[in-house]
Amino acid sequence: MTQRLAGKIAVVTAAGQGIGRATALAMAQAGAEVWATDLRTDTLATLERIEGVRTAKLDVMDHGAITGFFGALDRVDVLFNCAGVVHGGTVLQATDDDWDFAMNLNVRSQFWAMQAVLPRMVAAGRGSIVNMASVASSLKGLPGRCVYGASKAAVIGLTKSVAADFVASGVRCNSISPGTVDTPSLGDRIASQADPAKARQAFVARQPLGRLATAEEIAPLVVFLASDEASFVTGQNYAIDGGITI
Ligand code: NAD
Repeated sequence: MTQRLAGKIAVVTAAGQGIGRATALAMAQAGAEVWATDLRTDTLATLERIEGVRTAKLDVMDHGAITGFFGALDRVDVLFNCAGVVHGGTVLQATDDDWDFAMNLNVRSQFWAMQAVLPRMVAAGRGSIVNMASVASSLKGLPGRCVYGASKAAVIGLTKSVAADFVASGVRCNSISPGTVDTPSLGDRIASQADPAKARQAFVARQPLGRLATAEEIAPLVVFLASDEASFVTGQNYAIDGGITI
């Protein structure tokens, strides 16, 4: 990968595994100094010896932790708000707790992190924020994804609103909407089904491309949006979904 992030300081949330991890590694390969953060320290520990990567425990549902973490950094050029959780269930099955948890983890955490980085990005006259949405959002209704879809649609709205407010200040804000990506949490969701092989098949059948994505296929899109190559791109949501939304 070319050094398209050379000289940039990037923060990735939920970088312990899955898309966050693949992106933290891709950003480091692209020359960024990466802060890989996660709630879990065991998975972060496996990133500690990678050149260009520093790790820190960060629970994005803890407002004080977010303020403290970002406040201690000299500069942030790139923020990838990746943390999120999938909740299953229809509108009749979802509970208030499911709703609150999904909104807090999938949306409010991004709101807090952006509040923490934006003043300095604006003062510096540059910065790129990438927020994790999903095809299950305003892009597409997927069965059994009520609170998840609502939260990820909110991410797209939040992204566009931040982009509009800061478009003249040199700060860009975009979101990405992956289809189904083969990550540890997807593996857990599949394993918890009565017939895991059938459940995996159903996920694959949803993808016109005929397979699931790898996390490494999602990371380059985030690297691009983070980089100056995307200097004219803001307020957009990018589907990267194996054809689900064709
Ligand atoms: P994953 O679900 O396998 O891992 C999630 C990571 O988030 C874990 O390392 C976990 O420790 C961390 N985490 C959980 N709560 C946290 C908190 N409060 N603070 C900090 N970190 C926390 O990873 P994934 O499947 O790549 O999902 C990452 C993001 O991508 C999520 O926002 C998810 O909604 C989104 N997404 C995933 C898929 C998919 O098919 N996997 C598709 C579209 C969007």
